[in-house]
Amino acid sequence: MPRSYLREARKRVGPKKERIGPIIERLAVEHADAAIALRFRSDLELLVSVMLSAQTTDVNVNKVTPALFEKYRRPEDYVAVPIEELERDIYATGFFRQKAKAIRGTMQMLIEDFDGVVPRRLDDLVRLPGVARKTANVVSSELGHAQGIVVDTHVRRLSQRLGLTRQEDPVKIERDLQRVVPRADWARFPHLLIWHGRRVCDARRPKCEECVLEDLCPSSRLRAPLRSSDASGRSRAGSPSRRG
Ligand code: SF4
Repeated sequence: MPRSYLREARKRVGPKKERIGPIIERLAVEHADAAIALRFRSDLELLVSVMLSAQTTDVNVNKVTPALFEKYRRPEDYVAVPIEELERDIYATGFFRQKAKAIRGTMQMLIEDFDGVVPRRLDDLVRLPGVARKTANVVSSELGHAQGIVVDTHVRRLSQRLGLTRQEDPVKIERDLQRVVPRADWARFPHLLIWHGRRVCDARRPKCEECVLEDLCPSSRLRAPLRSSDASGRSRAGSPSRRG
């Protein structure tokens, strides 16, 4: 994509601080059902579900957790069984050895340092073994104490396409988003982008013609310049610019 086009596209849509309000409002209407897809009934179940969701789908996790949560109700239950038994119980979520080890370590720390209660503070959550910043952000946001913005593959792609960041590193993307997204929206903003990414702004074939953000998006392929092959009547192909 030519640089001059990107400059023009950014000028066309205007500054991100002015676009962020309408972006959130429109997505909130479009995806009123946007919410975490994992099923849980307690803080502990939320934490375990999010830990299990690494490298697999939420649907897959939801198939495993009903039986798991019947059997393991307290942190003590996870450390009371041989690790091989826990590995078998979470086997279908993949990477079961690393996940079982992380869950056991986390449960041990919850018992020893947090009276068996899942902490709310991001700084405490990231101390738990196997709990990285993304997991900690998901848990604290779902518990109503968002202290950051979850950046997954959809949030990364859409933030770039919408021109909210030019970064690739999730921590830097999160920092850019924190500067522009109102704090009150930190918890719901990732859900809105995730659901828009799944339903409309697909990684390979974004449906720009159906997108409610089309006039606010510098990467809309409806406005991309025609290539010589397009001019001869062939259809446009490929993803929109990621640089926004
Ligand atoms: S206009 Fe296209 S690229 Fe931009 S957010 Fe919508 S679907 Fe994605």
